[in-house]
Amino acid sequence: MESTLTARDRVGVQDFVLLENYTSEAAFIENLRRRFGENLIYTYIGSVLVSVNPNKDLEIYSKAHMERYRGVSFYEISPHIYAVSDNTYRAMRTERRDQCILISGESGAGKTEASKKILQYYATTCPVTDHLSTLRDRLVQSNPVLEAFGNAKTLRNDNSSRFGKYMDVQFDFRGAPIGGHILNYLLEKSRVVHQNHGERNFHIFYQLLEGGEQNLLSKLGLERNAQKYQYLVKGCCPRVSSINDKNDWRTVRKALTVIGFHEDEVEDLLNIIASVLHLGNTQFGEGKNGENQITTEPQLKYLSKLLGVDGAALREALTHKKITAKGEEMISPLSFEQAVAARDALAKAVYGRAFTWLVVKINQSLAFKGSSSVIGLLDIYGFEVFQHNSFEQFCINYCNEKLHQLFIELTLKSEQEEYEAEGITWEPVKYFDNKIICDLVEGKHKGLISILDEECLRPGEPSDISFLEKLEDTLGGHAHFVTHKLSNGKTRKAVSREEFKLIHYAGEVNYSVNGFLDKNKDLLYRNLKEVICQSNSQVLSQCFHREEVTDQKRPETTATQFKNSLAKLIEILMSKEPSYVRCIKPNDAKQSGRFDEALVRHQVKYLGLMENLRVRRAGFAYRRHYETFLQRYKSLCPGTWPNWQGRLADGVATLVQHLGYKPEEYKLGKTKIFIRFPKTLFSTEDSLEARRPALVLTLQTSWRGYRERAKYLRIRQAVIQSAWRGMISRQKARRRRHAVDIIRKFIKGFIYRHYEHCPENEYFLDHQRFSFLMMLFRNPPKSVLDKSWPIPPPCLTEASEHLCRLCMRNMMRAYCRRIQPEWKKQMEQKVVASQIFKDQKDSYPQSVPKLFVASRLNSEEFNLKVIQTLGNDKVKYGIAVTKYDRRGYKARPRQLLLTSSFAMLVAEAKLKQRIDYATLRSISVSSLSDGFMVLHVPSEDNKQKQLSWRLTAMIITFAVARGKEGVIDFTSGPELKVAKCKKGHLLVTAPKLNP
Ligand code: ADP
Ligand code: MG
Repeated sequence: MESTLTARDRVGVQDFVLLENYTSEAAFIENLRRRFGENLIYTYIGSVLVSVNPNKDLEIYSKAHMERYRGVSFYEISPHIYAVSDNTYRAMRTERRDQCILISGESGAGKTEASKKILQYYATTCPVTDHLSTLRDRLVQSNPVLEAFGNAKTLRNDNSSRFGKYMDVQFDFRGAPIGGHILNYLLEKSRVVHQNHGERNFHIFYQLLEGGEQNLLSKLGLERNAQKYQYLVKGCCPRVSSINDKNDWRTVRKALTVIGFHEDEVEDLLNIIASVLHLGNTQFGEGKNGENQITTEPQLKYLSKLLGVDGAALREALTHKKITAKGEEMISPLSFEQAVAARDALAKAVYGRAFTWLVVKINQSLAFKGSSSVIGLLDIYGFEVFQHNSFEQFCINYCNEKLHQLFIELTLKSEQEEYEAEGITWEPVKYFDNKIICDLVEGKHKGLISILDEECLRPGEPSDISFLEKLEDTLGGHAHFVTHKLSNGKTRKAVSREEFKLIHYAGEVNYSVNGFLDKNKDLLYRNLKEVICQSNSQVLSQCFHREEVTDQKRPETTATQFKNSLAKLIEILMSKEPSYVRCIKPNDAKQSGRFDEALVRHQVKYLGLMENLRVRRAGFAYRRHYETFLQRYKSLCPGTWPNWQGRLADGVATLVQHLGYKPEEYKLGKTKIFIRFPKTLFSTEDSLEARRPALVLTLQTSWRGYRERAKYLRIRQAVIQSAWRGMISRQKARRRRHAVDIIRKFIKGFIYRHYEHCPENEYFLDHQRFSFLMMLFRNPPKSVLDKSWPIPPPCLTEASEHLCRLCMRNMMRAYCRRIQPEWKKQMEQKVVASQIFKDQKDSYPQSVPKLFVASRLNSEEFNLKVIQTLGNDKVKYGIAVTKYDRRGYKARPRQLLLTSSFAMLVAEAKLKQRIDYATLRSISVSSLSDGFMVLHVPSEDNKQKQLSWRLTAMIITFAVARGKEGVIDFTSGPELKVAKCKKGHLLVTAPKLNP
């Protein structure tokens, strides 16, 4: 607001509370007019936003505009719908309280546009993740779908919402939109079958006919010509210049997909739309016998196909009704008018329920279960007064009475709360309490709706006129209820005989009672309902439940349903923190730039804006936080300029004292200053204006000083920078020179590398030497087996040999030191084995890598008895062997056990032979890989002292008995074989392992 305080003469005040003459309606409207002339369509009354429909695109809804209003305090910047959106959003996040924005105004005033702008603001500025962007798209895309099915062109508005809408947007703890829910109110179903001149049916019909693909239309049995359909020609207005049905069709089809409608569901939905058109073209005429019958067969065929019902049953239900008389069901034919009414009722019921089904489906796709904060958007029909007002206007105006009541209650409440919070005494405000009218409509027994319901249900012949009479009987004398009969001579003319007048808070409205009963009953003949309930269309069966036919309970009347849903809505709104947007339509012709004062005055009145302003101005015109106030006006007082150091409240007190505020002109609260009259504020504002040149001068001087100093600092910085750069450059040059020297030395050294040590090659050779030694140092040989050694430069050949030897020795020494005792024993044994067998025995090389073991027998293979006979001797080595007899060479399996003093041959538990090492003369083996061993011992039988034996590489001979000699022949062959040969020798064949 502060931003335009000074321009108030031209553009008016940004907040109506600053109007000097705040009780004057003329001043109020003049302020609106001035601002409207400057394309300033938004003005505040405190925190309420008043919006005047510009009927043209203003460039104030870009992303940049949204950014400008993000996180900015309400009054710092000009009024805007984004300021309300942002303020509400921030209140929700910081205070964690659910919010709602109530948008009201008459048809065509810009409510729906405002709600869309708010939704767009949230969709653009709130944080979203990839996952949530789907939901955001669904939220936004729910609009075109609902508008296609629920909006229509009327005389007032080319895109008039014909239903009330309350939408909850849910946010998570980060402030990202995560879900939504829509409540819909009272769709104007009568539009499906009838439109006033210059109006249209719901958009979707025209969109389908204009945009639907040819094969789709053929399938639905439709022609691309709205003129052909009775339900679309009543208003004589199939085309509207501001509407592009073909494009809108594409948008709606896409939106249905985005929201997640299944193709089958869309097909069913379009079948329903087409069937409504076919119903409109269904005609009745007189049959041969004078009975009423359907004369349009093709329509009936399409209807039965599209609605998924039996054709014959539908035909009968459209021309007959079922009545129950004395407990018996009877079928009676319908008159021509009755049949037309039944047909229209079916069209309305089918369309109305399909719309509700659509909302349910959208809600399913937006659903989020979990904790969230909520901002609710209410875009509901505003107060309506026509030449002829009927049941619909009655409901709509009743709704507005309720919302007005809520509005006054909540505004007064919040005002009072602020006074309390600031510690300022509350001064009671006089205002019109419209409870009396709300009670007149909704009161139990004596309320209009109760009487209407009673009349609808009463036996006998109730009619709209009998209803009117009942009203007169019950409500006669009520201050806000008048009829022709009840009024006196003067006012009688103003009410016709079929009307009743309600004196609403917003003005007087005459309602014609015609159609009240029928519309309230919203009747569909039972047999028609039975047929539809049998439909095999998925969507229709969800709209019409089969139980409905058998359900004996009387359905709630339309007015009662509406009353109850309204009560629920009020409950929802009461539980939230409200913000308000009040929309005004500047002219009835949808023209831009035209401001029709009479029309605006009417709306200002019935939106209760003057009342609102009175409440807001009850005490004080202007209130601001100390900080904001001080910041703006501190330059007007030497005590607070340029900065106030103490408490803010003291600073403001000092300031207003200096300005000469009188005690009755202001109050200081806990955090805010309250100024009673706008003139006080304006004179302060004017002083600021007068002080501005001096301020500007001071600012200019300081600015120049600042600029000069900045210049000086820049120069100083430049000098330091150039010195620093010089130093860096010199350092770089030095490094480069050094590098060049080295490269030169290198090249020269390389040329002279084979010469004696001289100054030319000194650097190069040193470097070579150094590199070689460093390389050795970094990568010495790692193991004794690694015999590699780098090639030294010529000048280091000798030193390198020494080093290599030293290194080897060192590694060997280290290796030897690491050897364990048992390993050493193995090595010693290996050395002995090598001395004996190396190059002597074919199997020797294979034996080298195998470790010596203590025994080749497992512990369980030793016989305990044998071990016990040994006494103190221990078995040092055991092995399973085959023993061959000296005579006859019979082979016998034995264990050969060795102790420290003798060897023995054991069979099972028996000790077969014991050979003391002392008596053992020798052991002989062949040179082959035969595993053969001959132990030479003196034989007992010949008692000879001298044992004779002979051994060559391939033959072993030994004495068996006196003069008798045993011979073993060894030969090499493919495999190991031991056998006695013809000569009586033992022939051992062994494979050759090492060629
Ligand atoms: P309501 O919902 O109150 O009946 P709408 O929101 O549908 O009215 O507005 C009617 C028409 O007025 C819109 O179709 C649009 O052409 C115009 N209109 C409303 N608000 C604005 C706005 N802020 N800027 C431009 N045009 C607007
Ligand atoms: Mg609307």
